[in-house]
Amino acid sequence: MQRPRLSVVVPCYNEESCLEVLHARIAAAARAAVGEDFEIVLVNDGSRDNSWAVMQRLAAADPHLVCINLSRNHGHQLALTAGLDLCSGEQILIIDADLQDPPELLADMRAVMAEQDADVVYAVRRKREGESLFKKLTAAAFYRVLDRVTDTPIPLDTGDFRLMSRRALDAFLTLPEQARFIRGMVAWIGFRQVPFLYDRAERHAGETKYPLAKMIRFALDAMTGFSTAPLRLASHIGMWLVGAAGLLMLYILASWALGGTVAGWTSLMLLVLFLGAAQMFVLGLIGEYLGRLYIEAKRRPLYLVADIAGTARGHATLGYNAVEARDQDDVHPPLV
Ligand code: UDP
Ligand code: MG
Repeated sequence: MQRPRLSVVVPCYNEESCLEVLHARIAAAARAAVGEDFEIVLVNDGSRDNSWAVMQRLAAADPHLVCINLSRNHGHQLALTAGLDLCSGEQILIIDADLQDPPELLADMRAVMAEQDADVVYAVRRKREGESLFKKLTAAAFYRVLDRVTDTPIPLDTGDFRLMSRRALDAFLTLPEQARFIRGMVAWIGFRQVPFLYDRAERHAGETKYPLAKMIRFALDAMTGFSTAPLRLASHIGMWLVGAAGLLMLYILASWALGGTVAGWTSLMLLVLFLGAAQMFVLGLIGEYLGRLYIEAKRRPLYLVADIAGTARGHATLGYNAVEARDQDDVHPPLV
């Protein structure tokens, strides 16, 4: 298959008033970057307005457009996944439909990718225009808490606006989980990822499609998808409680020995302390198992190979081969 040099992937939910300007600006930016060799993939995420009709009209007039209509509203991250699955470019730009992320930055992002030989150039928000103080504060807090509880280094203040290489995208597509936090998953795959600072603009039209309830859901997907810290809570509490209970027991026994206690108090206190600590300990133990079960259940690949050097290269495709083998089909027929 002949891949276009660039795919631009856009999830759209009730964005009818943005689509025309969006299409014009993306097409202009793409043309400036790669000539005619690009595709624009618009994913209609079960919009309730006229987005699909507008998309069909645009697609009829422009052969660069590929429009996908999902069966219902599946949510931002799944709509984006659908677009990423179906796009075919050598480089992939992910961008929001509301033009908060200026498509004109494509040229600079491609330059950074080429200069630094990067697989992912992720856009970091320096400023956010036209968003409520509440949104900015909660977003800032969210990224910092997430950073503390997860083992995957997920970049701060970074949305899904990013440029990816085909091999990074292929690696990303091997992650099978259902609850998807895409910016974290892309961070997880590794390879060479570099930041790109930009100022986030105001929405072109319409209003945010992320009301509070969706934001909370999104944050929970991120936390639970990239950390088992909440499950470990009981372990931590249990550990502190055992320590504190030990000291308290000494105090209770001493009071009893000195004779200053009401009858029954000593045994009652010892029992309560002992049972509390034991329960937390066992809960924590269950949490540890559950956390591991959860990680197993996600069935992520164990590792991804970036490069292989040396003459035994062909045999190395026996391991994880999708990323390497796909580009190299004619050179090294896959061994499995
Ligand atoms: N979006 C989507 N499905 C949804 C919600 C949002 O495809 O259920 C798209 C939306 O059209 C936009 C992007 O996801 O292109 C980000 O949404 P939005 O701009 O409303 O979020 P905000 O920038 O306010 O965080
Ligand atoms: Mg937006």
